[in-house]
Amino acid sequence: MLASGGIDVTLLEAAPELPRELRASTFHPATLDLLDRFGVIDEMVQRGLVAPRFAYRDRRTGVVAEFNLGMLDDVTDHPFRLQCEQYKLCEIMLDRFRSMANVDVRFGAEVVGAVDHGDTAAAHLASGETLVADAVVAADGAASAVRKSLGLGFDGMTYEDRYLVLSTPFEMADHLDDLAYVNYISDPEEWLVLLRTVDLWRALFPVGDGEADDEALSDPSVQRRLNGIVHRSEPYDVAHRTIYRVHQRVADRFLVGRVVLMGDAAHINNPLGGMGMNGGIHDAVLLGASLAAVLRGDIGADRLSHHAELRRALAVDYVRRHTHENAQSLAAPDGAARQRALDHLAATAAAPDEARAYMLQASMINAVHAMSAELEEVGVFTTG
Ligand SMILES: Cc1cc2nc3c(=O)[nH]c(=O)nc-3n(C[C@H](O)[C@H](O)[C@H](O)COP(=O)(O)OP(=O)(O)OC[C@H]3O[C@@H](n4cnc5c(N)ncnc54)[C@H](O)[C@@H]3O)c2cc1C
Repeated sequence: MLASGGIDVTLLEAAPELPRELRASTFHPATLDLLDRFGVIDEMVQRGLVAPRFAYRDRRTGVVAEFNLGMLDDVTDHPFRLQCEQYKLCEIMLDRFRSMANVDVRFGAEVVGAVDHGDTAAAHLASGETLVADAVVAADGAASAVRKSLGLGFDGMTYEDRYLVLSTPFEMADHLDDLAYVNYISDPEEWLVLLRTVDLWRALFPVGDGEADDEALSDPSVQRRLNGIVHRSEPYDVAHRTIYRVHQRVADRFLVGRVVLMGDAAHINNPLGGMGMNGGIHDAVLLGASLAAVLRGDIGADRLSHHAELRRALAVDYVRRHTHENAQSLAAPDGAARQRALDHLAATAAAPDEARAYMLQASMINAVHAMSAELEEVGVFTTG
């Protein structure tokens, strides 16, 4: 957004090359609409999977509620979730940056902090170098060195359960009826999320207090959990296994003078519903366009401040609320609450108006709609 808005950009990445470890894999319709302006969607679709349907299942009885995003084709140009790993978008964008004269990409450039000087901002690198610029954008992830150097709070909570993520090339869809590419699966003993990427099925399971990380990651645990999805006589081939803690946290402020926070540096949330990276891209589009407009002198700095507050409000009221509700409905503690959550989803899916309202929220179309006036103010026009 900055470079296409005519601003010179230096991108500082600590890693020696593009990180490829498994992270986000779902792009929502509203995010695809925002990314369309960069001409990246065709390649993402080629390298990903188009998933119009997502489903809630009961592990024992099968599909409980299915939602078809195709119903939203009057409000989005992309009425589907795109299953495409985050690193693929990074690769496509890096190619774009390399062809732009006003973008300088530097790998192996770790930032240790940033300072707002009022009329400039500075980024301090681990190498001892200091770069002075008109502004610094901190998109340096959940452990953001920039956020810490500014002394900003990152309040919120950590869930009791950790999440274990396993990937396998085994074709689950040959053994489970009506399996969508995105499935939230309820179960009184162990709920899970089952997602398809191009090459693998990825399953996410909760890990409770009584199980240590290395126990959950061990072969017996991994085989037991995967066999609970489809029972097999041979062992599963496991392509990746990771375990991590889950948080809901939002930085005190997204803007400190000329330093802007975006993405996980500004907010982290429960991954159920796939809104973290999507929300980060929404930050980047609004705040990137807004910062470019301020630096060009098209709007005053007070507008950027308003836009940063709006993004913070959406991180709290939209992303945090929706992802927490998802977690609560899947992990409902007792049988009656679990059944109520499933009955509610089934009734929602069966009533077209309610299904539409639900999908407008889950697809993040409402989240982009909530900032449509601000996007227009900075020259970004959205679908629908
Ligand atoms: C298993 C899992 C599944 C998920 N699934 C989804 C999903 O489907 N959809 C979704 O929307 N979200 C999902 N999320 C959340 C999503 O992964 C994050 O919200 C997203 O990666 C945040 O992107 P980011 O660019 O802000 O931060 P990051 O992806 O963390 O990128 C930060 C970058 O900054 C670099 N960096 C870090 N520190 C420094 C430094 N000091 N100096 C210079 N460079 C630095 C890092 O090397 C990295 O390249 C998932 C998360 C997990 C863990």
